[in-house]
Amino acid sequence: MRIDLHTHSSASDGTEPAEEVVAQAARAGLDVVALTDHDTYAGWPAAVAAATEQGVAVVRGIEISCSRKGISIHLLGYLPDPEHHGLDREIARARRSRVTRIERMVQKMAAAGIPVTIEDVRAQAGEDTTMGRPHIADALVANGVVRDRAEAFADILRNGSRFYVSHYAPDPVRAVELVRAAGGVPVMAHPFAKARGWTVGGDVIEEMARAGLAGLEAAHRDHSVAERTHAEELAARLGLFTTGSSDYHGAGKENRLGEHTTEPEVLARIEEQATSGVEVVRP
Ligand code: AMP
Ligand code: FE
Ligand code: FE
Ligand code: ZN
Repeated sequence: MRIDLHTHSSASDGTEPAEEVVAQAARAGLDVVALTDHDTYAGWPAAVAAATEQGVAVVRGIEISCSRKGISIHLLGYLPDPEHHGLDREIARARRSRVTRIERMVQKMAAAGIPVTIEDVRAQAGEDTTMGRPHIADALVANGVVRDRAEAFADILRNGSRFYVSHYAPDPVRAVELVRAAGGVPVMAHPFAKARGWTVGGDVIEEMARAGLAGLEAAHRDHSVAERTHAEELAARLGLFTTGSSDYHGAGKENRLGEHTTEPEVLARIEEQATSGVEVVRP
């Protein structure tokens, strides 16, 4: 059984529609794929429909952007009830704030002479898409400013760039509580990936564990060997399970489906703990 529990579609900053992500999962020889778009459930229906067609089991999930003292934390939530109002309200607020934030970043960039408008960025994202910096990157590529997303993130769009603006994001402890309240299973994504910017200390993860965190994503390309080991040791100490996944973004990143995978026993624990009635869709 090959299980990849972290992927993105064009409902957020992946480059392929959700049905194509599931088709690619079949091609990559995966048995199970989770769709975990940033702050949205919009890709779920297409992914579910594709499960039967492609012969791949689909886990409906989400990746919630959280923030603690300015440090960004990503929380994966598996099988939450999409109609849970508390959680839906938070992610809807984050999506709205992301739009304002993109507008402000683009204004700063335009003021500095970088040729990009908000219309250019909107043209790179669908109607129902969670907007993110990758869509600014795509607009910069279209306007000939950079070659690809990676080049845009190396300078103009990086955390700490003079064009950077933050967006609303809930505290990670609150997000863990909300995912549990929605009957879902919270797993912290790439907890120690220093390559991505500042990361929180073990104390914050302990707080999240007390609030109901179920696992840590230990196997992820943004973790060094030491960071992965650190995640495995902390998970063992806190009684959490560990997952592994690709964080696939289509053509938007080099991450390949199935490059890291999760043990079947861990998926079984996720399914046991989910109380939302949202089930893994098996073909
Ligand atoms: P945002 O959520 O708007 O702050 O943008 C962060 C997103 O940008 C992450 O979810 C990544 O998918 C994407 N990202 C970050 N760094 C890179 C990179 N070097 N190349 C491509 N995408 C990136
Ligand atoms: Fe992303
Ligand atoms: Fe993430
Ligand atoms: Zn992700």
